[in-house]
Amino acid sequence: MSTDLRARAWIEVNAAALCRNLRRIREAVGDGPALIPMVKADAYGLGIAGAVRALELVDPWGYGVATVEEGTCLRELGVRRPILVSSPVPPDGCRSAVEHDLIVSVSDLEVLDCLVSAAHGVGRSASFHVEIDTGMGRAGFDWREAATWGLAVAGRASAAACWTGCFTHFHSADLPERGPSEIQWERFQDALAALPVPRERLMIHAANSAAALRFPAFAAGGVRPGIFLYGGAVGVDLPLPEPVASVRARVVRIRDATPGSTVGYGATHAARAWERWATLAIGYGDGLPRALGNRGWVIVGGRRVPIIGRISMDVTVVDITGDDSTRVGDVATLIGADGDQYISVEEVAALAGTISYEILTGFTARLPRIWSGDGSH
Ligand SMILES: *Cc1c(COP(=O)(O)O)cnc(C)c1O
Repeated sequence: MSTDLRARAWIEVNAAALCRNLRRIREAVGDGPALIPMVKADAYGLGIAGAVRALELVDPWGYGVATVEEGTCLRELGVRRPILVSSPVPPDGCRSAVEHDLIVSVSDLEVLDCLVSAAHGVGRSASFHVEIDTGMGRAGFDWREAATWGLAVAGRASAAACWTGCFTHFHSADLPERGPSEIQWERFQDALAALPVPRERLMIHAANSAAALRFPAFAAGGVRPGIFLYGGAVGVDLPLPEPVASVRARVVRIRDATPGSTVGYGATHAARAWERWATLAIGYGDGLPRALGNRGWVIVGGRRVPIIGRISMDVTVVDITGDDSTRVGDVATLIGADGDQYISVEEVAALAGTISYEILTGFTARLPRIWSGDGSH
């Protein structure tokens, strides 16, 4: 069974490394702030069930997700801890959020009204955190108008819909310049000071991975780390996480290409001399960025070898000229370590013109996520 999962292409996930990365965040911010690991988008593409099983060992305060469906999935996995839905919830989502005891983030009064009526309809009390927009611009009440909306929110809050937290989100915490985040933090503090409820009654949180590491003083009541847990670097000048995910694929064909032979759609690579080509059982239909065609690198037979030609939906060809020992069935590494060679998710992202987040969440359901170890050591 386990060998079947490795028949073609797969992602290996190191549960212990995931837990160590969360513990690194804990060390950075100290014991006070609540840990709210973000497990949205299927735990950044690595598999929410495996992620939660591992993270439970670190005893987080709760979990952060982006959608009601993701929160529901956590409840079905048996999670009893608080679950924050950090993105705006469409009005229709409030009922399910209440039924599954999810903390809704509220960015406008209409959604708050929906939440209140959903709580009455379900006959169960709901709780919400208010998002404050301090410059991210995609969600939240405007920080400048806190006195106004604060009263309206407080007027709607009740035992049925309990106001339990406030948060904001940094747009540039991964940059070495501290100014933009410091300005956002000041705006956040100004807004909190203008609210009609004492801040001691609210859970205050702001920091993503980068902010937790760069500005431990902004950790406040809780932190919401994501990418760092999954092995993504969060800033050129910040500590590196431990790698968590490795992407592997089988060599399914090897051929000796005569000079002039071409490979892939558009025949964009032609053998200059005799070359040896290996076909790997992974393509853009698996989430390998097509932009890596004629640019990316793969580890085969302990060496870094170039991707040649365009990447197809299902296969990718690499040039292994000079390698006489690799055989069909051997394993190629597209992200991760093999022997003393290593390809980071950042390297792949940079070559593909994107960020690690998009690479990790882009791997498709075709690739089994194979979790190993746990977080207990
Ligand atoms: C995704 C997200 C995070 C986590 O950000 P990372 O950069 O992955 O650490 C935190 N808070 C909110 C609101 C998010 O949407």
